[in-house]
Amino acid sequence: MRLLIDDVQLWDGTGSSAQPKMSVEVRDGRIHWIGSASQWQGNRATVRVVDGRARTLIPGLMDCHVHYSSPGGPEWIARFTDPLPEISMRAIELAEASLRSGVTTARDVGAPQGVSIRLARTARAGEIRAPNIRAAGTWIAHRGTYVSFASQFAEADELRNAIRTEIEAGADLIKVALAGWNEGARPKDAPEIPFDKKLLAVAVEEAHKAGFKIACHANDPTSCRIAAHAGVDSLEHGMFLETSDLEAMEKNKSYLVPTMSVWDAMLYYSRAVDWPEARRKRAEDLRQGSRAAVTAAIKAGVKIALGTDAGGGAARHGRIAREAELMIECGMEPRDALVGATSNAAKLIGEDERGTIEEGKIADMVLLDANPLESIGALRMIAAVFQEGRRVA
Ligand SMILES: [Zn+2]
Repeated sequence: MRLLIDDVQLWDGTGSSAQPKMSVEVRDGRIHWIGSASQWQGNRATVRVVDGRARTLIPGLMDCHVHYSSPGGPEWIARFTDPLPEISMRAIELAEASLRSGVTTARDVGAPQGVSIRLARTARAGEIRAPNIRAAGTWIAHRGTYVSFASQFAEADELRNAIRTEIEAGADLIKVALAGWNEGARPKDAPEIPFDKKLLAVAVEEAHKAGFKIACHANDPTSCRIAAHAGVDSLEHGMFLETSDLEAMEKNKSYLVPTMSVWDAMLYYSRAVDWPEARRKRAEDLRQGSRAAVTAAIKAGVKIALGTDAGGGAARHGRIAREAELMIECGMEPRDALVGATSNAAKLIGEDERGTIEEGKIADMVLLDANPLESIGALRMIAAVFQEGRRVA
């Protein structure tokens, strides 16, 4: 199948400027030709032509932190323990909603009973309309410190076994959780985090030895410090990272996935559905810590990849534009936020053939009715979504 996106403003995801009046030809799911619109030599009768005028073409967006097993919203925690058939069917709907919002690749970083692995497999087989999903299987956490439906361990050997079990089940990456949920701060007088530096070093070694990336949930000052120094591939949330932590992350080449939609949604629901004051207060603390951490991360040169945590908190699926807006509020240029949602995300996820619009790459692309480099809100103005060259929205 051949497709021509004709006479469009092209932003290729590499971090360079957008180019006007370009055309992109797709053949058999890959980008076959890119050039000036006037230079295209083919026969219009034999290709499907999409009018690109007054539009901007960007690479398919990547959300590096989602949970399709929960819909988000005010009751998101309860939704993770719904009956499994319900979770599974809903995950299919949520993945499709995500795809329609321009997300052509997503990292699902934790699901009860490894639902995300099945979802990723079904998507890969072309049986459902969903992003290309990289799934972490189940969260791995120290016994009694995280959710009851996580895979739990106490000793190093148990931790190694838990990681091997996820790999054998078909996970694409490993996800460990150092501290509690984003919504539940650890009590001030709580003892040290039992998932300590030594155990995290075991997890990083075990994952890397098997050739897998490891993502680490850290959302309070102690867990942020442990994770930043551990050499994890990505630190998720990172709301209380300090300068010395960020320097360590830069040195270790760890990505930060800020997930600011977490507190943004919490603040919304604390007004909209009368949440208890404690939850509003927690959201306010997260907001302050998060904005300071992301602003400092930008200055320190830490690599940032976009992740919404849709489903894993109150944030709903299909709202990737909001996360990009929050990144810009912390001082990122629109172009850098877009890099965080495309080529940088691809590097973190390990998708060599996606993340940019270049000849030979897989044709995952989003066509917008506005220019996101001028105003990031343009990410909501979706004209079309292409996945492996097929129009899916
Ligand atoms: Zn999450």
